[in-house]
Amino acid sequence: MNNSNVTGMLDTIIIGGGQAGLALGHHLKEQQRKFLILDASARTGDAWRQRWDSLRVFTPAKYDGLPGEPFPADPLSFPTKDEVAGYLEGYAARNALPVLHRTRVERLWREADHFVAASNGRRWEARNAVVATGVSQAPRLPAFAADLAPSTLQLHSGDYRNPGQLQDGPVLVVGLGNSGAEIALEVGRTHPTTVAGKPSGELPVKHGRAAARFVLPIVRFLGLHVLTLDSPVGRRVAPTFKAHATPLIRTKTRDLIAAGVQVRPRVAGVEDGKPVLADGARLDVANVIWCTGFRDDFSWIDPNLLDGGGLPRQHRGVALDIPGLFFLGQEFLHAAASATLPGAGRDSRYLAGKITPNG
Ligand code: FAD
Repeated sequence: MNNSNVTGMLDTIIIGGGQAGLALGHHLKEQQRKFLILDASARTGDAWRQRWDSLRVFTPAKYDGLPGEPFPADPLSFPTKDEVAGYLEGYAARNALPVLHRTRVERLWREADHFVAASNGRRWEARNAVVATGVSQAPRLPAFAADLAPSTLQLHSGDYRNPGQLQDGPVLVVGLGNSGAEIALEVGRTHPTTVAGKPSGELPVKHGRAAARFVLPIVRFLGLHVLTLDSPVGRRVAPTFKAHATPLIRTKTRDLIAAGVQVRPRVAGVEDGKPVLADGARLDVANVIWCTGFRDDFSWIDPNLLDGGGLPRQHRGVALDIPGLFFLGQEFLHAAASATLPGAGRDSRYLAGKITPNG
């Protein structure tokens, strides 16, 4: 479909065509709404394609399908990131979703009774605007990263693909969340590797087919229905999730130790160009991989549409005092599972019921 031809006042603009934007698009299509998905990437699924080569999801295929279409794989298997990307690309095509690629929205603001999104000299107007730009917006790095010796190769997990990118010599992986654990295990096969940090808990069983059958259904239920911002326990754990420090799911601390990876305290700073740990140890490493997560970047949205700190003021994705503005896919938007494949289906269905036709 030539989406450049979608002109005039739209019912809804969705900014971001990852799984969250596509899932919502599916519902709006069913409602026969006039909408457009504006997406910065060249191809649907690129957010997944651009992650590291060996990545497999930890959610079983039975939970990875978007609204109206199960994920086409053995339900207890864990698809590769390229299989997820391919599924999303096919989903957009099969649902004939109007996605305009290579269109990074540079500004979003409100004018009278509608929103305006602008990209590269073009503008689109709509009664409703949905921000679905994902959680991997900007790498989060400590300020002292700039003090590492120039000879140290530095990468953020968002740019890591495989150990071939590294120089010879020891590797320090900073951060022991799921990305840090999986990347440390992989680079530990080719380089002497230390991972610095402390996990915020671990799944108490081995991840795999049996877990997919018996344990992950419970995890999914908790993530969707118990750990929500409407429950005291959900509100208590939300800050940890928002810091992207979720419990280790597949690769546990004991797996790292068994593979010869050194597990050490967190990095406290840099001295003489070398990383220094919280216990005072100074490490001589050739490579540092920052698995320190991402931060939100809504700097392209008119600050009048956000709170004083530049973040959405919303409940379950509905902006509190800006009619017609919505958010989808952000970390703990409503529940622990909000930024995952299973969460995209549930949260998009809720939002589709809240977006008033024609504003
Ligand atoms: P994204 O996939 O990031 O898509 C956002 C889209 O918006 C992108 O195409 C981007 O180009 C576009 N965009 C951004 N800014 C703009 C702009 N200003 N204008 C226009 N377009 C814009 N979830 C699971 O369920 N299971 C897993 O196993 C799992 N593993 C993960 C592993 C890693 C390493 C990471 C980082 C995340 C993982 N997730 C997993 C979480 C989640 O499913 C993914 O982050 C997923 O990509 C989020 O989908 P999304 O649509 O919200 O955002």
